[in-house]
Amino acid sequence: MRDKLEKELVELDKRRLNIRKRYKNKLINSKKKLNQKDYIYFPKSIVSEKNHQLRYGLSWLQNGFILKKGNNVIAVDPGVNFVLRLTESGFDLSNITHIFISHTHLDHSADANVLMDFMIRARASVKIIAPKSVYDEKVISDFHSGLKPKFPVNHSAIIIDENSEIELLDGYKMTFVPLQHSVECYGFKISGNNQNYTYLSDTSYTRELVTKNNKIISITDITYYMENVKSKSNYNYIKEFLKDSDVLITNIDSYMYTKNSKTHLPLLDLLEIIKDNNIKEIIIAHVNPIGELKYEEWGNKLAKYVYKISKIKTFAVKISGNKFYI
Ligand SMILES: [Zn+2]
Repeated sequence: MRDKLEKELVELDKRRLNIRKRYKNKLINSKKKLNQKDYIYFPKSIVSEKNHQLRYGLSWLQNGFILKKGNNVIAVDPGVNFVLRLTESGFDLSNITHIFISHTHLDHSADANVLMDFMIRARASVKIIAPKSVYDEKVISDFHSGLKPKFPVNHSAIIIDENSEIELLDGYKMTFVPLQHSVECYGFKISGNNQNYTYLSDTSYTRELVTKNNKIISITDITYYMENVKSKSNYNYIKEFLKDSDVLITNIDSYMYTKNSKTHLPLLDLLEIIKDNNIKEIIIAHVNPIGELKYEEWGNKLAKYVYKISKIKTFAVKISGNKFYI
């Protein structure tokens, strides 16, 4: 004879099965009609002020945004908690058509498999766009990239390099630029409708610096905060790539040159890159709460300084999230 608790567990088994079945169908049919407006959307951060472990230890982990152009809904660099942050804001994941991963680092890729798992369950086929090392290092698993499909979905994994040109929906196309990072890394440009949108992921721009006492220093040799820069040589092809861009989305790591400048962009190099270009708007992405610093103590000031020097509208992504209509 089953006792009361056993009976309840049998009932719960049935209920759980029913809920899953019901929700599975709901999920598959959940795709809502896309709004006409195009946008770049950064979901809000979920790291509270009191969360010292994330703010001090892993402050860089949260990253990623959605770029919508026509019927293209591109998830870009899904870092840690990207899916949770998007769904908390009510974003409909099943509308995503493409996932771009610039490189293998966790803050650009950690949630790729999570996102793909959802897409598989929602029966929404997605194109993954990433350099070879992302697949080689199984940052996105063969199962989740659709290379070993088990579910009836039609994902495709596209390997990109500097010569790739990808046709998106509605006549948009995507081209790529190799960046200067510690691992293989690419930025992209989306073109169409006479407008160009460029995303620079993690990159340095300076090759060598000349100090005020005429000492030549390779960017890879900087071990300290460096202010006394007289001149420098750059990776000019990156500047060339965004010559015709209207909007630039970029990550910034510091104001001056530091030891991180061999793999990340200092603000002074951004000012160099945007000089003599037609950029109308700059979005500083990947701005996370670090330690006891308030967001306003850094991101806003970076944006303010870029505007002061360049007179280009510049925004730093807010901790509460941002939606930029483009
Ligand atoms: Zn990186």
